[in-house]
Amino acid sequence: MTTTVTTVPPMILDEVEAVRVERLSPSFVRVELGGACLAEFGVDGPLYDQRIKLVFPYADGPLPSLAGADESWLRVWLERPVEERGHMRTYTIRDVVGSAADTRLVVDFVVHGEDGSAGPGSSWAERARPGDRLVLLAPRRGHAFGGIEFDPGTAARLLLVGDETAVPAICSILAQLPWRARGAAFLEVPTTTDVPSVVHPEGVEVVWLPRDGAPLGSLVHDAVLEHLGVPGLVVEEPDVVDPDLWETPTYSSSGEEVESAVTVVGHDLDDLYAWIAGESGMVIALRRALVSDLGVDRRQVAFMGYWRRGVAMRS
Ligand SMILES: Cc1cc2nc3c(=O)[nH]c(=O)nc-3n(C[C@H](O)[C@H](O)[C@H](O)COP(=O)(O)OP(=O)(O)OC[C@H]3O[C@@H](n4cnc5c(N)ncnc54)[C@H](O)[C@@H]3O)c2cc1C
Repeated sequence: MTTTVTTVPPMILDEVEAVRVERLSPSFVRVELGGACLAEFGVDGPLYDQRIKLVFPYADGPLPSLAGADESWLRVWLERPVEERGHMRTYTIRDVVGSAADTRLVVDFVVHGEDGSAGPGSSWAERARPGDRLVLLAPRRGHAFGGIEFDPGTAARLLLVGDETAVPAICSILAQLPWRARGAAFLEVPTTTDVPSVVHPEGVEVVWLPRDGAPLGSLVHDAVLEHLGVPGLVVEEPDVVDPDLWETPTYSSSGEEVESAVTVVGHDLDDLYAWIAGESGMVIALRRALVSDLGVDRRQVAFMGYWRRGVAMRS
């Protein structure tokens, strides 16, 4: 007799479908992604900034085949020509609605590129209709998947900073914080009409910064430095910016030792936890201010480049 052993992959890797599409504002399209596979979706605790991967079809062609997909799928997928594999991009779960086989992941897509530079993610969202399909990589309940960076530990004060690509993550974090949480969130968005209403603890001040034509990152810089009590500090973006900038208490994309980078300080930022995400140049300039100039402990910050001006994400 032959016995067949089937192993369940530790993540959900399956096709999902746009069930609902809503244009929230000039820069945001909300899509609810559904599929029977989502009955298995779940994480152990709050979702906070849980990220997922989405694969968009190449030039409106078919999605890559998932036949026989297992944990090695990503490596195999990367070896295929782009015409077959499509484009993978990273997004945040803004919310989860429904339950069991009717579970839907809510994703807020930033639509960009009026100058013709829109990538496959933005273009797909701009044209999305119910029934359109994508490949999803997401956490499977009961398995470690990773992808949540927000981890304030016992910090008494939060500082959340982001541009439009981090709005879904910050809104999700705000909605799931304990009601006693304290701190401030600074969110830069392209226009005044992009400002959504958001659920947040009373003790966390939420400051919306619509650019309305101002340079990307400029409003958030000034507002954050003023909040930290150093309004005159000059923060410049370095000449060379790592598009994949990622520095958290447990990982540094530059290879910097977290322990050796720790500075012991005695000022009133000691109780702060800072989570900063968005365009890499904006994030790295704020990193300079917080870590290099103000000496905030590297273990109390997460700096994440979500995208880089002029650079398409690798897929
Ligand atoms: C952990 C994580 C979570 C994220 N969550 C979200 C999310 O919930 N919603 C969301 O919309 N994005 C999110 N992003 C950012 C998103 O992955 C990038 O913006 C990605 O580049 C979009 O892919 P694309 O195909 O549209 O553009 P790409 O093909 O990557 O880039 C094409 C061109 O568009 C430019 N570009 C890319 N993004 C933007 C932008 N936002 N504004 C202006 N120009 C841009 C690039 O510089 C490039 O010139 C997240 C990223 C990470 C790492």
